Amino acid sequence: MATAVPPQAPRPPKPRISQTQLFIDGQWTPARSGKTFTTVDPATEEAIADVAEGDAADVDAAVRAARRAFDEGPWPRMNARQRGRLMLRLCDLIEAEIDELAALESLDNGKPYADARNIDIPLALECLRYYAGWADKIQGATIPVNGDYFCYTRREPVGVAGQVIPWNFPILMVAWKWGPALAAGCTIVMKPAEQTPLTCLRLARLAQKAGIPDGVINVVPGFGPTAGAAVVRHPGIDKVAFTGSGETARIIMGQASDTLKRLTFELGGKSPNIVFADADLDAAVAGAHLGIHLNQGQCCCAGSRLFVEDSIHDAFVERVVELSRKRRVGDPFHPDTEQGPQVDRAQFDKIMGYIESGKREGATCAAGGKRHGSKGFFIEPTVFTNVADTMAIAREEIFGPVLSILRFKDADEVIRRANATDYGLAAAVWTRDVARAHDVARRLRAGTVWVNCYDVFDAAAPFGGFKQSGFGRELGERGLDPYLETKTVTVSLAPHSRG
Ligand code: NAP
Ligand code: MG
Repeated sequence: MATAVPPQAPRPPKPRISQTQLFIDGQWTPARSGKTFTTVDPATEEAIADVAEGDAADVDAAVRAARRAFDEGPWPRMNARQRGRLMLRLCDLIEAEIDELAALESLDNGKPYADARNIDIPLALECLRYYAGWADKIQGATIPVNGDYFCYTRREPVGVAGQVIPWNFPILMVAWKWGPALAAGCTIVMKPAEQTPLTCLRLARLAQKAGIPDGVINVVPGFGPTAGAAVVRHPGIDKVAFTGSGETARIIMGQASDTLKRLTFELGGKSPNIVFADADLDAAVAGAHLGIHLNQGQCCCAGSRLFVEDSIHDAFVERVVELSRKRRVGDPFHPDTEQGPQVDRAQFDKIMGYIESGKREGATCAAGGKRHGSKGFFIEPTVFTNVADTMAIAREEIFGPVLSILRFKDADEVIRRANATDYGLAAAVWTRDVARAHDVARRLRAGTVWVNCYDVFDAAAPFGGFKQSGFGRELGERGLDPYLETKTVTVSLAPHSRG
């Protein structure tokens, strides 16, 4: 049983739903087809709003606008420092509306209001401000080539970026995508996830208010196979940045091949979280708990495989189970809530299917394992023990509040098992032994390794996957690379043969 939040608590005021149309070339417009789709509050299963459903025709209009803004508009040509200043102005406007934006995010996604307000949006602001700082620091090099030549490189924006994002961190994903693209001088066509279009549209409104020129940012809500695929196929788009499932990434890779688009993928994971017996166990228990349950378990880097050393296994597991049972599940707007609903029925059904498969395959369901309540897509924080590496719950990404706990004997064994996956997004190791910490960190095949911590993100630290967790990096200086082309200019210094 999860701990229920008392139902009578006051709710913050409902946010305004002011933007529900497509944002193309600075204009709010209905879809050319006239179609709309409904976005739903996952806590109540009730409709929030009807949103314009863009498709290929709308994406085409958005790409034309972004193309014009890139090929002829001021954005890539203005003083780079001024681009940074406009990005900073956008951040100030976001900050001024932070409470309402957080409420809108919570309403559309189901995440606790406090998380949206105190984690997601502050991280988004950090990211946008960090990249605003890069705008005037993107530099080439001078190259000592052979012969009488002066050779230098220019770092130029790649052009129009198509950005397709998921629903788990809607505002934060906008920041991760817009930040480096805008700093580099690119223009943007973004397709937000069908489950969570509202805050992305609101951010587009704020970007316009901040003075970012029309056509630089275009937002086309809609469905993946129509609007998303149109972004991927459109010859006017130079680069696609995608965050989501490996399945969709495979389709995108195929569809992008006609136009040889540059691709960056941030995909899923089955991240190992490894606890050695000598660790600070209080910190490790908290890290194991948050590592899986943060954001209703809907994190690409969730620590979903918890490896615990034999000698501490039983006592450690008991503590993790107890914390899960105590986790407060309920109304995302209640200040005490730690866990809201899953984002939609499809995710709810998928996760419940994995819980059933864990039980069927013989793992022990030590906490949770059931729906929470009868309305909304709530699932009890769930912990499986006695999990074998071969079970589906230990191999496949569940993307929900479901932890698999596995037992290990020594470092060589756990590293081999931790790496025995097609994923490689993140990993963590908990130990007081400094040499072992660094040794394990270098041997884990993952894009991020946390030592004695979990889910620590910083705008300056690159993030991305090894293996089938994706390619390319986001955040940090490396996060600019996918939005830049390198041009080599070679100048002859030989005196002109003058007549
Ligand atoms: P998804 O289908 O990969 O969705 C991500 C984005 O891609 C959405 O905007 C989606 O549009 C779009 N999309 C879907 N098909 C497309 C296509 N053919 N061409 C272009 N864009 C397309 O993910 P999902 O269905 O929402 O979730 C499924 C699973 O993906 C989850 O259970 C989880 O395992 C994983 N996932 C990972 C992350 C991550 O952060 N790495 C985030 C979300 C989900 P729609 O809005 O229409 O779906
Ligand atoms: Mg989908």
